[in-house]
Amino acid sequence: MSVNQTSYRSIITELEAGNIRLVAVSKMKTIADILELYNAGQLDFGENYVQELQEKQALLPSDIRWHFIGHLQTNKVKYIAPFVHLIQGVDSLKLLQTIQKEGKKAGRKINCLLQVFVAQEETKYGLSEEELFTLFEEWKHNSDGNWVQICGIMGMASFTENQEQLRSEFRKLKLIFDAVKGKYFDTVPEFNTLSMGMSGDYKLAIEEGSTMVRIGSLLFGTRI
Ligand SMILES: *Cc1c(COP(=O)(O)O)cnc(C)c1O
Repeated sequence: MSVNQTSYRSIITELEAGNIRLVAVSKMKTIADILELYNAGQLDFGENYVQELQEKQALLPSDIRWHFIGHLQTNKVKYIAPFVHLIQGVDSLKLLQTIQKEGKKAGRKINCLLQVFVAQEETKYGLSEEELFTLFEEWKHNSDGNWVQICGIMGMASFTENQEQLRSEFRKLKLIFDAVKGKYFDTVPEFNTLSMGMSGDYKLAIEEGSTMVRIGSLLFGTRI
């Protein structure tokens, strides 16, 4: 078994104080590993690939809350719409509209986070701050909003050891979260999630206002 129970316990304790939620990132990890963490009390798990998520969901306990944290293609939304708990990487109006359509078909409201890009890298997905506000301007005219619940913002910092850079990127995400909340979701209690922080940088993310961290390698060991 490669699950690090000691690390799990200490992270849980750390997060409890601030009421921060933990998503255990289980991509490329086995059913046995996920079950081991589930049996330790973990219910939220995150996956990056649709097919892998579908396969695992079918085999694992039905009270697991599955988070989709990868880049989601519109033509694949239908496969996860019936069960997904939170789609974290929504990065276009088109994707949001597709999720709405598939939510309606599945007869359930689907929770989403908008992914915002703040890192200084070219490879990361997500919306710029400007694109994000444009999206909300268009989305607010949407007449059939019952099938999508926008719950907040997700972001990733640069892949760097530079603490000051990481901190300023997390701070930027928090400012964007507050601005969006103030402008569009002030009276929406469901808009309460700022998903930022991974194994290497979650402590900084929490200091800067994260409400949900996505942690893989600290719990399951490094992926090869
Ligand atoms: C893989 C992944 C994580 C977890 O990364 P670790 O460094 O293993 O904690 C978090 N968020 C996203 C979007 C990921 O793809």
